[in-house]
Amino acid sequence: MILDNHPFELNSKGHLEIGGVDSINLANKYGTPLYVYDVSIIRENCRSFVDTFKDLGVSAQVAYASKAFSSTAMLQVVKQEGLSLDVVSQGELYTAIQADFPPSKIHMHGNNKSVEELSMAIEYGIGCIVVDNFFEIDLISKLLKKYNKTIDVLIRVTPGIESKTHQYIMTGNEDSKFGFNLHNGQADKAFLQLYNNENIHFKGLHCHIGSQIFEADGFKMATTMLFKKIGEWNKLHDYTPEVLNLGGGFGIRYTKEDTPLPYSSVVKELVAKVKEHASMFDMTIPEIWIEPGRAIAGNAGLTLYTVGSKKDIPGVRSYVSVDGGMTDNLRPALYQAKYEGVLANKAAQPVTDLVSVAGKCCESGDMLIWDLPVPEIGSNDILAVFSTGAYGYSMASHYNRFPNAAVVFVENGQDKLVVRRESFHDVVKNDLSYE
Ligand SMILES: *Cc1c(COP(=O)(O)O)cnc(C)c1O
Repeated sequence: MILDNHPFELNSKGHLEIGGVDSINLANKYGTPLYVYDVSIIRENCRSFVDTFKDLGVSAQVAYASKAFSSTAMLQVVKQEGLSLDVVSQGELYTAIQADFPPSKIHMHGNNKSVEELSMAIEYGIGCIVVDNFFEIDLISKLLKKYNKTIDVLIRVTPGIESKTHQYIMTGNEDSKFGFNLHNGQADKAFLQLYNNENIHFKGLHCHIGSQIFEADGFKMATTMLFKKIGEWNKLHDYTPEVLNLGGGFGIRYTKEDTPLPYSSVVKELVAKVKEHASMFDMTIPEIWIEPGRAIAGNAGLTLYTVGSKKDIPGVRSYVSVDGGMTDNLRPALYQAKYEGVLANKAAQPVTDLVSVAGKCCESGDMLIWDLPVPEIGSNDILAVFSTGAYGYSMASHYNRFPNAAVVFVENGQDKLVVRRESFHDVVKNDLSYE
């Protein structure tokens, strides 16, 4: 049963229920396609990280990587749960400010931060900039002089570990657009520039090894690599980092093939590894920061679509088309991401058919799910696609001039619209006439 893989239930009508509300009522009330989040699951996800660090008694910051899903309401929930926040652009920072997120808990990432972005970050006095390259060190130094301010920074390094779908490989010379190479002297050079800069407070190291990581091995390997470098800097410059940021990438369940360990177990293992290394190098344990994105928002959200046309190709397959597609969920087209779904209005009925779910964009690649088992399916059925809470809305586009879908939050049996559906007026609002 597909629902076994996802944190939702059926109600007495046999309809899919979200946060105590009938999904069919939501589809009728707000229209489709519709992103729906169960806010209690967002909170649960936040707490599974925050509480584990608390229980272990280690200082930590859990920063939500807001690129996964950023909206004012989402950031308000994350703020209520006491998380910090990662942003990578002025738009994401602006959203955080709209949500009244404490600037001191905001961290800025990016491999090409502009003068405008850095200026905005410095003016708001955000908590930390994660420095990515030499060009940026120059820019930050100049801006800090101009503003006569100081700022905390971490240095982003590439430890040369790649997670190739759950097997980790070491590459001595990692090929990445992000961060300073740990092995070829670049990280050392950057360290000296930052460490000796009077306007910069050099707080520690950051790395991010990948996404959809299901267990602790990769994080532990990264910890070992980072401490090797920290040990060198400690010996040469008497440097002890205040912060070790191990990035995000904690995996979620899209389909039954995905089997992430509970976040509490992963966090416990990585904390143990950090403690082990700190004591090995005779250092105080640094504050541990992590940056989950998908793991906070992903399984809390689903998308409701209305089924339209059906095309049977005898002996080949049956296509059913829905009223959304790659414009609201780019991941299948972008990297063959797999999803599961149910007919929300027939979720209790026995499965009889096998269909492939197509989006309505003019792209053959616009397929949402291949070979989905469903009950007898027809137009006006409501299809729910699970685990679309991360990198769905945030990657939405206006291809084919589809207005962006609405977002609804549900909690304790109450539903609330938190992002309006775009109108056709919105679609043309930036167009200027040429006659
Ligand atoms: C994307 C990203 C994250 C979040 O990744 P998830 O897989 O969503 O957890 C965290 N940190 C950095 C630096 C990232 O680029």
